[in-house]
Amino acid sequence: MRAIGALAAAGYLALPLPPLPIPVPSVLPSPSVPALVATPSVPAITAVPTQNPATAAPTQGAAGGGSNQAGNAANAGGGNSSPTDNPGRGIAIPFTAIYVSSPFDIAMLGALATLPLLFGIWMLLFGRTLGEARRARDAQVRLMLAADLGLRPRDLASMSTRALFGLREKSAFDELTGVMRRAAGISAAEREIVRARRHGLPLTVAFVDIDGLKEENDSHGHPAGDIMIRGLTQALKDGLRADDVVFRYGGDEFVCVLPETTARSARTRLSELQLEAAKSGVRFCVGVAQLERADDVVSLFARADRDLYDFKANRGEIVQLPTADSQRSVTA
Ligand code: GH3
Ligand code: MG
Repeated sequence: MRAIGALAAAGYLALPLPPLPIPVPSVLPSPSVPALVATPSVPAITAVPTQNPATAAPTQGAAGGGSNQAGNAANAGGGNSSPTDNPGRGIAIPFTAIYVSSPFDIAMLGALATLPLLFGIWMLLFGRTLGEARRARDAQVRLMLAADLGLRPRDLASMSTRALFGLREKSAFDELTGVMRRAAGISAAEREIVRARRHGLPLTVAFVDIDGLKEENDSHGHPAGDIMIRGLTQALKDGLRADDVVFRYGGDEFVCVLPETTARSARTRLSELQLEAAKSGVRFCVGVAQLERADDVVSLFARADRDLYDFKANRGEIVQLPTADSQRSVTA
């Protein structure tokens, strides 16, 4: 058996080579056509871009699996696939290298396809909710501004929110003196009260009323009275700290909110200012109240106002402020 085998082998080797079933020369790698068939993972998409795998199969003959892969790749690139083109691999998704071959694949594909749709719906709902929230807030702000400005809600229709803010800004400040008006001042005082409570710091409110304004108006005219009012606010602004709040409470009455200040130091500071202002002919009375535990802005202001009233009622007995005239006579 071994001899027959050897002979057969020798005989076979002596015979001329039969033609190979594989078209070797056409698939042998060459420098100009590099390993396209040998590397199925970087596939023959470029090697056979337009060739239909159905027609390509016979020419590649016994290449078998290799030709099948090339065919698949061509399907993926060309997009003209059908389930029968890729037996055993499922349905090819056009323009992709994806095959759907099981219910799980279909479920995955369905989920992938619905994701953008769900995202779109979410964006739509989110945008609408945001828009509604913005509109509700805008309406609330407009109503608040209308209340501040004393406008009726139907007056709002003709005014934009920006115009309303501008109007409130204008109306928040007193034209004559440049300090805040009552409403804005009370809001500022409320903020300061909250801040003082949060930090456990003292806060004092001082009510200030000009002396003899009526007399000045009557004897020198309204503009002279205006000068007196402006003189007082200037003295307060110059003499108090930048973070002290000064606002016009009404007529010739002003309020100073003095954070981090006790009633005693507020009195001292304002007495100094009384003397300073008196030099330029502006005299005023002061009433103070320090924030207490049970206070709100109303009770605090009421105590300061009462203190002012008491001061006015007893001023002859308590203090004799030098007038501008007496100052002149002292220095003369
Ligand atoms: P008192 O010394 O007791 O404080 O009396 P007064 O003369 O200052 O007068 P009172 O505080 O009782 O009244 C305030 C006066 O201030 C009455 C009003 O005519 C005048 N007044 C209010 N606002 C203005 C203003 O903007 N300009 C001027 N010139 N006078 C004003
Ligand atoms: Mg007065």
